[in-house]
Amino acid sequence: MNRTYMTKFNELNLNPKVLKAIEEAGYESPTPIQEGAIPAALEGRDVLGIAQTGTGKTASFTLPMITLLARGRARARMPRSLVLCPTRELAAQVAENFDTYAKHLKLTKALLIGGVSFKEQDALIDRGVDVLIATPGRLLDHFERGKLLLTGVQIMVVDEADRMLDMGFIPDIERIFSLTPFTRQTLFFSATMAPEIERITDTFLSAPTRVEVARQATASETIEQGVVMFKGGRRDREASQKRKTLRALIDAEGDKCTNAIIFCNRKTDVDICAKSLKKYGYDAAAIHGDLDQSQRMKTLDGFRDGTLRLLVASDVAARGLDVPSVSHVFNFDVPGHPEDYVHRIGRTGRAGREGKAITICSGRDEKALTAIESLIQKEIPRIDNPVKADEPKPEAPKPEKKARESESRKSESRKDREPKGRGRGRRDDNGRPVVGMGDHLPNFIALSFDERRAG
Ligand code: AMP
Repeated sequence: MNRTYMTKFNELNLNPKVLKAIEEAGYESPTPIQEGAIPAALEGRDVLGIAQTGTGKTASFTLPMITLLARGRARARMPRSLVLCPTRELAAQVAENFDTYAKHLKLTKALLIGGVSFKEQDALIDRGVDVLIATPGRLLDHFERGKLLLTGVQIMVVDEADRMLDMGFIPDIERIFSLTPFTRQTLFFSATMAPEIERITDTFLSAPTRVEVARQATASETIEQGVVMFKGGRRDREASQKRKTLRALIDAEGDKCTNAIIFCNRKTDVDICAKSLKKYGYDAAAIHGDLDQSQRMKTLDGFRDGTLRLLVASDVAARGLDVPSVSHVFNFDVPGHPEDYVHRIGRTGRAGREGKAITICSGRDEKALTAIESLIQKEIPRIDNPVKADEPKPEAPKPEKKARESESRKSESRKDREPKGRGRGRRDDNGRPVVGMGDHLPNFIALSFDERRAG
């Protein structure tokens, strides 16, 4: 983009102390979502921002909020503004953003998320806060315990509404909307506009300024994408072969892969993948919703400050992670929702940096891959699997695994003689192999059989 046509931050009517903090953060000019949302928000209008993470959307609501809240004071138990986030990580990050941009102002904030003690936050809210950042469930808990009044909320933000929808928070959001004053200003953000989201915005936003940031267009230009069509081979080895493929893909990137997020669809795979990588000497750690808050924070801090190279994550845990310089994203699985692919790869190639996103697609994921390609309207280039199919070396097995495998080899050597399937290995009283259910027929089958014979 030609610089001379760009708006400057100081043309946006932001508070001078906010401008100072922006300058200190090293931002030169507003991103498109900031350019669109900030002036409207400062005029007191509702904003509907259609943008994903990585576009600068957090600052597009925090900067005008701080400017608007700079005048006035909070009253006990009545927060002046409310930011709702789908996950605690995202909420914690929004809180950090407030700290950064409001550092030259005296604004107070509280954070209501799982893993942060009620008592401390209660005390803050009791005294009165300018900004309350919360996940919906935690907020309603506090409200129901009578600790909080939402009738003083002048600005309400809903961040990542599409993720709220995925997580089943929409009824909570509707309830929270109804607890805040009708006259509030609403800033509402979502990466996509599902019909259910559209219904919410039609109901609770009043003549919003709609700011849509071209989905993925900015990110995809700097993200090199590739997909390995993974053929698993033998079923009992498929998972370990897939992990081997992942290691080979990481190795193939060499030093270019300074740090990476590896996404798995299932929490169990997040754990297995991280453990396996560690076993093979990679610097990796897992993050998902079942880990306790302090552990997650520790892992994230390590990843942010560069002491941890590979972060293995689930979609929900990775949502909204603010890690500005990820060189690579690996999708161990193809995500089931095509939008998640867009979110995942948006973790790399941020702010004009180059990034690479490599996906492993096994046979059963091919449909999901087609859905992604139709969403992003381009074919993801196929890349060769660096692990050749004809060298199926298993992972270094642990002793007990060895025992299991030799057991399975033994049973395979019998497979020519015996029927396959669940009855394999069973013999009747005369030593003949048992086929299907053998003599143990359930009554209903026996009945229809007899009846057929009689007929
Ligand atoms: P977000 O989309 O809110 O997750 O922000 C993505 C990243 O962009 C964060 O690391 C921000 O610190 C950074 N950022 C936000 N606004 C700007 C800007 N105007 N210029 C450069 N970086 C920015």
